[in-house]
Amino acid sequence: MFTHYHFGAADTHFEDNGNHRRNNNWKYDLLCDNELLRIDPSHDKFVNQVEISVLAKGLDFVITPNRIPYENIICCIEEAIKQNKIPIYYAEAIRHDVATILCESKLPPSNITKKERLALKAIQNNEDIIVLQSYKENVIVVINKSDYINQIKHLLNNEKLYKPMSYNTKAQTHHLQTVSDGTNGEFEKLYKPAPQKPPVLYGSPIMREDKVLLQPIVRQINSPNYNLARHMAQVLQPLVEQSANFVKDSRHFVEIIKDIKLEPNDIMVNLNVQALFSNISIMECLNIVQNKLESNRMSSNYMQLLRNLLTGNCFLFQDKCYLQIDGLTMGNPVTPILANLWMEYFEAKVLRQDPNIIKVWKRNVDEIFCIFTGSQQDIERYIMNLNSINANMKFTYKMETDRTLAFLGIELSVRADGTLSHGVYWKSTAAGRFPNATSHHHPRLLQSKITSLKTRLHDLCDSEHLEQELDNLYKVLPKNGYQMNGRFKQLKKCGQPQGKRQPIYLPYIQGVTDKIGSLLVRKYSIPTIYQRGTTIKQLVSKPKNDLRLQKPGIYKIKCSCGMYYIGRTGRPIATRFKEHKVALKNKEIKKSAIAEHVLDSGPGHSIEDRVEVISNDPCDHSRIVRETIEIRKHNPFTFNRVVGFKLSGKWDRVIEKISLKKIKNMDTNSLEYKGTQPVRQRRALESLENKLF
Ligand SMILES: [Zn+2]
Repeated sequence: MFTHYHFGAADTHFEDNGNHRRNNNWKYDLLCDNELLRIDPSHDKFVNQVEISVLAKGLDFVITPNRIPYENIICCIEEAIKQNKIPIYYAEAIRHDVATILCESKLPPSNITKKERLALKAIQNNEDIIVLQSYKENVIVVINKSDYINQIKHLLNNEKLYKPMSYNTKAQTHHLQTVSDGTNGEFEKLYKPAPQKPPVLYGSPIMREDKVLLQPIVRQINSPNYNLARHMAQVLQPLVEQSANFVKDSRHFVEIIKDIKLEPNDIMVNLNVQALFSNISIMECLNIVQNKLESNRMSSNYMQLLRNLLTGNCFLFQDKCYLQIDGLTMGNPVTPILANLWMEYFEAKVLRQDPNIIKVWKRNVDEIFCIFTGSQQDIERYIMNLNSINANMKFTYKMETDRTLAFLGIELSVRADGTLSHGVYWKSTAAGRFPNATSHHHPRLLQSKITSLKTRLHDLCDSEHLEQELDNLYKVLPKNGYQMNGRFKQLKKCGQPQGKRQPIYLPYIQGVTDKIGSLLVRKYSIPTIYQRGTTIKQLVSKPKNDLRLQKPGIYKIKCSCGMYYIGRTGRPIATRFKEHKVALKNKEIKKSAIAEHVLDSGPGHSIEDRVEVISNDPCDHSRIVRETIEIRKHNPFTFNRVVGFKLSGKWDRVIEKISLKKIKNMDTNSLEYKGTQPVRQRRALESLENKLF
């Protein structure tokens, strides 16, 4: 049994009982008062009311930053100046203008309380629980971590599908290299020899009454085979679209049903294949694709690539590597296409058997919209027969209720003349729900979410439903904090700024970077792309083994005397840190400023085995700028041998504002401030120092 938390104003039920049409208001509660939360009852006592209310804001809720990242903003500006090759005179003007904004601006008020911030920290530190989001149902699930691991391990114990093995990145890319020879460079761009992320398996929750099932998905982004899989998906997609039964998406489905007319004894049924992906045999699948490629006179090179993709499919779970030996993996861009091709092959057999009972068969991967003609018993008998064709293919079904049925997020109902009317089926649309207006998103982004929701309503609803749906949407927006007459409408007029120059990437901070962005586009034609801040999801997820150390960037090492060394490297920070330690051990002072400081300063100086990552800028130029800012910020408490790059004097007043010397002087050593400094100001400085160092 799970504890269900409903955040609706009305008494709502989220179970699908076919009654959704009669209760026209409930669906908006999903939009209205945030998602439903399911919490494993064994953890009820660990998750308190504050934690529940903060999670209910939604995992995509962006939290206001607790500090303005001055250093990062300066780096972004310097990078944009360099990218756009802005002449020195204008560059100095930009720096002056931005520095003025930075010196005057204040941090926006926090959109969560201090208690809520602590609650998020507590969830992150709680080793017993794991917070997941079910995307299909838009439910946040808090479950026992060991249950989660056991459920996945149980799946991985299936010897027909998975085999433990050692992970070898090189072996996988090697396949690609051998195939790429002599293919006119089509695959050259797909081959990336750089170290990449291994694919990782995770469980995505699916709600089943009082149970949470985990669906295994392999996250492939940036994995060695990811580009190849994406390329294959593009190549094979046209083959899928050849089938008359194929439904691309809900918009495509709306087009299809315009031509459908039901007779009085026709029945609509939604068929679903259970666990389709893991039940598809790789060998059969490859044969099907081979036949397809041959009949379309396409290159047989693709077969080799596809075979490599499907047979070299390994992933990590809990730091152990597994190979998927059969079945298709969810999360790979090419597998939905293969599943569609497989279904096409399967249904060709099925539809031949008893063509009279099925009038319409429209498929989107594992979900099929059917119109049967006959009695309910006929249909049940037919589906039983369907389930006996292939031992691995089991269909579940849902028949229409009161002449209505949901398919692909569309609610269909039969009109008196037999044609189909269509509206939005909210249970699945909740996934595209917009964030609470207090989330620290750029207002334009919040607005675009609403615009896309409106577009969706326009695309999926017929005229009978549209007005009512839009009306309800406008009623519910203010409840999410949207001011219909103020910010929202005003923004409608101003479009995306169009600049001729390369865009600048800035973290979005209300009242700070939005001012900088509008200044840059107005005066210097530099458009801004705002980057989202930290989400609740990022805050509650468990910290991974420190990936930041494996990337290039700026780092800080503290000596026991209280002085710092600020370093910069284009290689992994961990590698550079190791070199410092080796130099210190071998007393090679030329190789490391740290070795020099510790060895030459005499007793009382030593470094801990700890390096702090300050930033992970990928670009060389912004790394140099960042290093300089950090050295100057820490001045005179550094033992760096060089002061770094020559930074424009326009930034002086910003760096002064964040300088360690200023804070230290005012805060601790200096007698002249004691007593005269207001307590509040001193506390603010103390907390600032805690945040900074
Ligand atoms: Zn020292």
